[in-house]
Amino acid sequence: MQTIDDLRRRLTRIDGRGYKAYKDIEGSYDFGRVELHIDHVQADPFAAPSKLRLRLPQKHAAIPPALHSNRVRRIALADYIARCVRSAIRRCARGNRGTGKSGLILIDAGAQEVLERTAVVVTADWVEARIEAGLPATGRRVLAREAEAMLCDELPAIAQQAMTWQELAHDDARRFVESVENAEHIRDQLDGLGLIAFVADGAVLPRESGASDRPLAADQAIAFRSPDSLRVTVELLNPVADVSASSNRLSGMGIPKGVTLIVGGGYHGKSTLLRAVERGVYPHIPGDGREYVVTHRDAVKIRAEDGRRVERVDISPFVSDLPYGRSTDAFSSDDASGSTSQAANIMEALELGASALLLDEDTSATNFMVRDARMQALVHKEHEPITPFIDRVHEVYDTLGVSTVLVMGGCGDYFDVADTVIMMRDYRPIDATVDAKRVAQTHATARRAETAQPLQPCRPRVPLADSFDSSRGRREVKIDAKGLDVILYGSDPIDLRYAEQLVDASQTRAIGYAIHLAAQRFMDGSTTLADVVDAVDRVFDESSLDILAPFGRPGHHPGNFSRPRKYEIAAAINRLPTLRIRPPDSTG
Ligand code: ADP
Ligand code: MG
Repeated sequence: MQTIDDLRRRLTRIDGRGYKAYKDIEGSYDFGRVELHIDHVQADPFAAPSKLRLRLPQKHAAIPPALHSNRVRRIALADYIARCVRSAIRRCARGNRGTGKSGLILIDAGAQEVLERTAVVVTADWVEARIEAGLPATGRRVLAREAEAMLCDELPAIAQQAMTWQELAHDDARRFVESVENAEHIRDQLDGLGLIAFVADGAVLPRESGASDRPLAADQAIAFRSPDSLRVTVELLNPVADVSASSNRLSGMGIPKGVTLIVGGGYHGKSTLLRAVERGVYPHIPGDGREYVVTHRDAVKIRAEDGRRVERVDISPFVSDLPYGRSTDAFSSDDASGSTSQAANIMEALELGASALLLDEDTSATNFMVRDARMQALVHKEHEPITPFIDRVHEVYDTLGVSTVLVMGGCGDYFDVADTVIMMRDYRPIDATVDAKRVAQTHATARRAETAQPLQPCRPRVPLADSFDSSRGRREVKIDAKGLDVILYGSDPIDLRYAEQLVDASQTRAIGYAIHLAAQRFMDGSTTLADVVDAVDRVFDESSLDILAPFGRPGHHPGNFSRPRKYEIAAAINRLPTLRIRPPDSTG
C-alpha cells in the first residue's frame, strides 16, 4: 500500500491540471493509523462525489468486542458509528472548497430508525466508513492544496473522532447497542406471548409535527400508559435506566393476536398509536420515545391506494363479479380504485406471509370497510361486487392466523368481530373490550354478514424475469432512487409513496437493486414471488447488503444501502409498470 506522502506527491503533481487528472489518485493509502481507499473519482466537480473508504484496524479503533459480538449488536453499532461519522464531518470538514461539490463530505447515516446499512462495517479486524467526497476544483482545474487538506487532514481527524473507542462516548454507544438489542429481544418474545405488538409504559408516541419524525417535546406529550387488563411484562437482555423498568423487565401494553380495534373520538391519538405500531417493525434510537414500541416483524400496513397498478392479483375474496362479468381472480389494472387497490394490498400481503394487517380508517376506502344495514337494503348484494372487510377480518385470522389491528372511530358494527377493543381517550388507552361487547349485544346491528365463498388460500404468483428491464439508453443497468418514494428502474418509474413502512431513501435505493438481483437470480419462470423475495432476504442474511452494489464494477463502493423488508421489496415489484405474472395454466 502507498503512504500519505505518496498521495501528497501525486496531488502536487496534478495541481492546476484538468479535473480528469484526479484519476491518478485512485488507489489505497496507509496513513499510519487509518487507511484511505479512493475507490472511484468523480468525472467533474458537479458529478456525484467521489467514493472513498476510511478503514481503521481494530488495533487502533479498539472497539470493545462485546459491542459487536452478535449480528444485532453489529448492526446497531455500525448504525451508531455512521451517526458519529456524520457529526464528526460537521465538526471537522470545512465544507465548500471551490466549484460544484468541491469540499463536500457525506456519509449515509440514519434518522429515527436503526437499520442494517452499508455506510459502516465493523468486523473483528477493522472498522470501515464508506463516504463520499467532492474533490476540490476551481472551474474544472484541480485544487491540490485544498484536496490535500481535505484528504490528509480532515479525513484522518474524522476517523479518529468517530471510529476510535478512545474518542467515542462510551455510555452513549453502549446504551444505543443495548437498547436495540433489547428491542429485538422483545420482538423475539411476541409470538410466545401471543402478541402482535408491545407498547412500553412510558413510551412517547406523538411526533413533533407531520413533517418531523422526532418526538414531541416531553412537556407536551402524554406518555403512554397501558390499561391494567392489557399490561404484560417482557424480559430485557440489558437493564435500562428507566422509570418503568425494574432491572431487566419492562411493562407495557400487549396488543394480542386476533382482531383489535382502536376506537375513540377524533383527535384522541388513535392514528398516532397505529403509526407507532407500523414503525415498530424497526428498532429506534434511544430518545426517540418509541424505542420500546415493538411490532411483529411481519406486520404490514394496508391502505387504499387508488391509481396504483395491480397485476394478476386474486382479489375475489373481497371483490367479485365486477360489472360486465369482469373476473377478479386475476385482477389487473393500471389505475385501481380505492377498494380494489386496498383488496390487492391485502391479498399481496397475505401472499407473502404477513402475520398482521394494520389499517387506519383515515386511509381506507369506506365502501371497502363496511356496508351498513340501510345500504344493504337499498343496494342488493347481487349488485355489489364488494365483500366488505368487516365480513372477512375474523375469517382471515381464523383460517390464516393473520391478525388485524384497525383504527375505527366511525363504525360500531366492527364490535361484533373484534376480540380486543382499545379506546383512546385524551391520548390514554382504555380497555373497552367488555363495554363494546355489551353495546354490541344491547344495540344489535341490523346488517347481515355477506360472505359468499369461504376465504381461499392465496394463489401463488410467478413473476416473469423478462418483464424487468433495467436498461436505460446505453446503460445496461441504470437504477436510481428518487428520494424515499420513487425508483426509476431502467426507464420505468415505481411509485412507493404509499408503502408507508419504508423509512429511509437508502432502503428505496436498495430495493431498486434488489429487484435487479431478484430478476437475474431467482425469477426462473416457476419460482413464486413469495419465494423470490424470501430468497433475496436469505442472500442479505447470509452475505450482506454489499452484494447489491458492485454489479461487476469495481470501485463502486456500496455505502448507501439500508435494508428493506421483503414486504417493501415485493411492494415495488408489484407496482412495476411492466410487471408480468405468469398465468397459472401456462407452462414454462
Ligand atoms: P386521531 O387519529 O384519534 O384522530 P391522532 O392520532 O391523529 O388522532 O392525534 C391527534 C393529535 O394529537 C396529533 O397532533 C398528535 O400528534 C397528538 N397526539 C397524539 N398522541 C398524543 C400524546 N400521547 N400526547 C400528546 N399529543 C398527542
Ligand atoms: Mg386518525
